[in-house]
Amino acid sequence: MAEFDTQLVHGTPQHDNDTGAVNVPIYASSTYIFPTVDSQVKWDYARSGNPTRNYLEDQIATLEGGVKGFAFSSGLAAIHATLAIFSPGDHIVIGNTVYGGTFRLITQFFKRWQLEFTAVDTQDTKAVEAAIQPNTKAIYFETCTNPLLKVTSVKAIAAIAKAHNLLTIVDNTFLTPYLQRPLTLGADIVVHSATKYLGGHSDVVAGLVVAKTQALADRIYFNQNGIGSILSPENAAQIRRGIQTLAVRLDRHLSNAAKIVAFLQERDEVSKIYYPGVPGSKDYDIAKAETNGFGGIISFELKAGLDAKKFVESLSLIQLAVSLGAVESLIELPYKMTHAELSDAQQLAVGITHQLVRLSVGIEDPRDLIGDLKQGLDQL
Ligand SMILES: *Cc1c(COP(=O)(O)O)cnc(C)c1O
Repeated sequence: MAEFDTQLVHGTPQHDNDTGAVNVPIYASSTYIFPTVDSQVKWDYARSGNPTRNYLEDQIATLEGGVKGFAFSSGLAAIHATLAIFSPGDHIVIGNTVYGGTFRLITQFFKRWQLEFTAVDTQDTKAVEAAIQPNTKAIYFETCTNPLLKVTSVKAIAAIAKAHNLLTIVDNTFLTPYLQRPLTLGADIVVHSATKYLGGHSDVVAGLVVAKTQALADRIYFNQNGIGSILSPENAAQIRRGIQTLAVRLDRHLSNAAKIVAFLQERDEVSKIYYPGVPGSKDYDIAKAETNGFGGIISFELKAGLDAKKFVESLSLIQLAVSLGAVESLIELPYKMTHAELSDAQQLAVGITHQLVRLSVGIEDPRDLIGDLKQGLDQL
């Protein structure tokens, strides 16, 4: 098999193509011809399967090292279809700082389904073990948390899960298979918001799931087809294209992030930097052992008394917006924007202060990014 970066560009041939087109076509067809009433056709109706979507599903399954991939209309639709493989009365141990939308889905939607959850700091393996109950079925977490980039060991969690006969489910949105392949570290299911790095251009909302075994794939396919929140063929083609440049984009995200961290370390206005690539923390040690890079998200705290709102609003190149993982740099204040649904007390409990800034480092020339940060800090 070709090297990973080559696989990003090429994907699995779909054997559907008489024209010689280099890319899989966008199949704008909701239904397919049955040659006869009794025909066993591969494609019958496009919610159940579409060749453009199937290309993307095969592409992500190969890259993550799973048996089958599934594409959804958003990351949350992918997470919904994944958690819907469980039944009322089942219990799931979940990271206590998972994506806000995931938290809302479990606490306000799946609660009505009578799924039970316990939220814990998944870096703390003792806390994870202690949260396991007789009806626990899975452990769900993000390797790098948002916005404080706390790193959890997939190997350690998967070992606990295996010992208790539980599934390990990892949201791999922040790292992508270029930086970590959770299934190869012991996880059973990987979910993605493909809206972020996989799409990479802030122009499409999409979600992906990859299952490690056929039995799990069958359960997720039932939900994909049965609930129906599929990705359109047009959007599948956009994510397919995004994935082709994942390696080159992430190489630049990583090198820009390292340069920006070095710049911020020299600035008096910055009191704390959260980035797993800074040595001397548990996060660094785990990331060093289990990832191929520290990602493109940096969070940092401005010194008490400095006006964080003024800082983010004074930037001219780096845009003030939620979301992350795109070619353009985006900055935001978590307490007011991405994590506003948490109360003040909940925010402080997980370390989100009013001085905390989250930066999604883009692929621009690092001199321009540092120049913009510098002029913003100089104004404080
Ligand atoms: C954005 C995000 C999601 C949700 O994905 P959508 O595509 O916005 O539905 C889930 N998990 C993580 C880590 C995210 O960053």
